[in-house]
Amino acid sequence: MSQETVVSLKELQKVDDEIRQVRERIEDVEERLAEAEVPLLEAEETAKATRDRLSQMKLDERKLESSADEKRARIKKLDERMTKVQNLREEVAVRAELDIVRRAMEADEQEALGLLDQIRRTEVSLDELEASVAEARAELGPQREELESERAREQAQLGKLEDRREEWVEQIGDGERKVYESFRASGRRVVIAHLLEDGACGNCFGMIPLQVQNEIRGGGEMIRCEACGVIVAAPETSPES
Ligand SMILES: [Zn+2]
Repeated sequence: MSQETVVSLKELQKVDDEIRQVRERIEDVEERLAEAEVPLLEAEETAKATRDRLSQMKLDERKLESSADEKRARIKKLDERMTKVQNLREEVAVRAELDIVRRAMEADEQEALGLLDQIRRTEVSLDELEASVAEARAELGPQREELESERAREQAQLGKLEDRREEWVEQIGDGERKVYESFRASGRRVVIAHLLEDGACGNCFGMIPLQVQNEIRGGGEMIRCEACGVIVAAPETSPES
């Protein structure tokens, strides 16, 4: 394997590690964004539930009022009939119906009054809830702006790294690329390691057969460690040696 390929693979590995870190940071920012939105979402949800309950109560109250109105009209008719009764038996019957309808009307009115009271109290608490929605929104604003610009910065960085990645990918051969990509896809971070001076694999430290070591040092074909599978490159030349 040529020195250029070794360098490219190592750079690619480095860029991919950076990409992974940037992606983690983006995920983290997104989590923080979602968390920051929770108080507002909760306040909005409570306000909405209260608003729904309020309109249901208003609807019920109107129904009670119109039902009381109907009974009032019925009472008027019964009152008229009362003036035209022919005998005691008829009078008793009309009076009995009048009593029933009047009691029912009063019950409707009572219930409507109770609801009106509840409506007033709910309107007060809805005002308070809407104030806390506004407060939560005002608090979230700058926080969200900050997190969104942080995310934008990381995304720009990710774009740059991905471009750089493409450049390094173009530098390596198909065989190396396939090994590299399948390693990364399976979640392994180390794809290429150097042969150590003592002849061990730089990743798993397993000994590599002498003949294979020579092939690696010769820099020909791509050679992989039999034990751990990483691509093994010739030993790193340190400046001192
Ligand atoms: Zn190995």
